[in-house]
Amino acid sequence: MLQKYDVPGPRYTSYPTALQFTESFDDRAWETYLRERPPTVAPLSLYVHIPFCRDICYYCGCNKIVTRDVSRADRYLDSLTREMALLARHVDRRRRITQLHWGGGTPSFLDNAGMTRLMHDLAVHFSLNDAPQREYSIEIDPRTVDVGTIALLKGLGFNRLSLGIQDFDPAVQRAVNREQPFSMVEPLMSAARSHRFDSISFDLIYGLPRQSTGTMRETLEKVLRLSPDRISCYSYAHLPRQFSSQRSIDRLDVPDAEAKLGLLHTIIDTLVDAGYVYVGMDHFVKPGNELAKALEDGTLQRNFQGYSTHLAPELLGLGVSAISSTGDVYCQNLKTQDAWEARIAAGRLPAQRGLVLSADDRLRRDVIMQLICRMGFDIEETGSRHGVDLEQTLGSELARLAPMEADGLLQRRGTRIEVTPTGRLLVRNICMVFDAWLAPERERFSRTI
Ligand code: SF4
Repeated sequence: MLQKYDVPGPRYTSYPTALQFTESFDDRAWETYLRERPPTVAPLSLYVHIPFCRDICYYCGCNKIVTRDVSRADRYLDSLTREMALLARHVDRRRRITQLHWGGGTPSFLDNAGMTRLMHDLAVHFSLNDAPQREYSIEIDPRTVDVGTIALLKGLGFNRLSLGIQDFDPAVQRAVNREQPFSMVEPLMSAARSHRFDSISFDLIYGLPRQSTGTMRETLEKVLRLSPDRISCYSYAHLPRQFSSQRSIDRLDVPDAEAKLGLLHTIIDTLVDAGYVYVGMDHFVKPGNELAKALEDGTLQRNFQGYSTHLAPELLGLGVSAISSTGDVYCQNLKTQDAWEARIAAGRLPAQRGLVLSADDRLRRDVIMQLICRMGFDIEETGSRHGVDLEQTLGSELARLAPMEADGLLQRRGTRIEVTPTGRLLVRNICMVFDAWLAPERERFSRTI
């Protein structure tokens, strides 16, 4: 049955997805929107994109700049500071930054002075928060930091770390050009624990070349020894026509669909047996973790970084290609460093494209986000929130759930649609039923398994 449902589909870090953003919503539209919208002092989430990487990982599909020239980072930080000033004009200083995330690329490409400068500049332009409930996180490439960096990050105010592990098997690491042995990661974890980071997250990938259930078991055994608070397991999408670095991967080394299913089973069985809670899609957390609590109390949300708690209703992005999400608007920055810098130098926000959500987009987004974050929704309650009769407005979509119900992916109880434990594995497929934008873009997405 899993094979039946293994089709290309979005990961729904937003709805509509970034593929639907258009250049008719440009920097002037974004600036007008920010200037004219009703004032707010609500908490705010910030995302900062650092696009540089020292080496290329062959599987990577991110927007990044591969360079060993560290001076590029200084130039980048100069522009980032100017972008902060341009954006901060539209942000009430009473808005507390409750969530901050540095992603990439490799944020730890910055040296200690660069990271210190970046956090200082953020504090100059925005109201950073030192409350214990804040969630300040940074993505770490273990090859670029030492235990001293971990201490510095704590001192800068981070309380969450996300480590890109991918796989611990040496042959797999060689096949994807990312060699970082267990002996490199272990001291970083010890340092992070001794500095009392609130949450440490690992990213793993399944479906990489040379992976087998045997190598995956060994990787998971090492992961469990290090005992991260959260684990994200992403499916590798082999799309060499879209991502040129993937052409360095030998196609014959990539596990086929059946082998990939075996890897996924191994991951789920091992992590659930070890006591992790399967939050949904690709996320596992320890029972006491705030994401597990958010799942329980219905406050889990999904944003461009994956699952998160709901500390802030809006997200503003800084840096090349960064995406902002403010209620009814998505807006993405220019994607090349030169274009992004030139726009900022001209004194304009570096936005390139975006989307203003229609009432239909908002309704479908609500349904899709409830499916992903709460594993179900109430037809009447959701409809009344949007002033529509959902049985009529999304009648054909609800009818298309019947075969999925017959396959045991979901259950309809009165006005409630509930995703079953089996359905959790295929929740992307259930969401796709409600995606009005999907058909023409389908082949550009990864497969759901
Ligand atoms: S996976 Fe991360 S470190 Fe590797 S090339 Fe992509 S962005 Fe850079």
